[in-house]
Amino acid sequence: MTPVLQLSGVTRSYGSPPTQALRGIDLRVDDGEFVAIVGPSGSGKSTLLNLIGTLDRASTGDVLIAGERVSDLSDARLSAVRAHMIGFVFQQFHLSDGQSTVDNVAAGLLYTGLKRALRRERAREALTSVGLEHRLDHKPRQLSGGERQRVAIARAIVRRPALLLADEPTGSLDSASGETVVQLLRELNENGTTIVLITHDRELAERLPRRVAIRDGLIVSDSADPAFAERHTVGAVT
Ligand code: ADP
Repeated sequence: MTPVLQLSGVTRSYGSPPTQALRGIDLRVDDGEFVAIVGPSGSGKSTLLNLIGTLDRASTGDVLIAGERVSDLSDARLSAVRAHMIGFVFQQFHLSDGQSTVDNVAAGLLYTGLKRALRRERAREALTSVGLEHRLDHKPRQLSGGERQRVAIARAIVRRPALLLADEPTGSLDSASGETVVQLLRELNENGTTIVLITHDRELAERLPRRVAIRDGLIVSDSADPAFAERHTVGAVT
């Protein structure tokens, strides 16, 4: 089976003299997984998210999305892969205030060639799948934070991406709304959506099926592979 995501020996340096934000990441995510990438501030999470989301390119090493090697793709092809393969959910929702929820979600289908009526129909279906069928014509400001994040999730999944990438999706929410969003993500995963969630919140990560911990630009543990750290720690006895 082709993994949804595979990183091999990935590094990313910034500036000169270089700061190494990632120092050799090996990570494989298979279809149907729900993985939390957890680490403190400055550990390299955003850098890793940008590489997984194909918003940035590695300094060295390989990033493969559904078998496609990111370094082999032109910027145009990479944008197309991103649009088809990856749905993004951010801490700050990024909804358009002037549009209804249904139009916010339908915006996720722009440039697909689908007619407007069909885009809106798919958007209604996606909003129904996140439990917001009664909020189709509301504007984002008329919704609670948790509801706004559910709209953002509907927009991210409306194209049925191979991978849903969530960056601190509960970071702006109170604990009850955050709980609803986590529950929704779990349901989407149970229905087949592959999810990578980035967080500094250990408690949240502990409740997810697989946890990958990152520190100082390196993976230090992987709950799916308890021997990971031993094999990857320099000087480890093998
Ligand atoms: P996190 O998301 O876990 O807080 P980041 O990926 O943002 O971590 O940062 C990892 C390291 O890379 C930090 O030391 C940070 O200062 C550095 N870094 C991140 N982005 C840049 C940048 N654009 N230029 C220089 N250094 C950066």
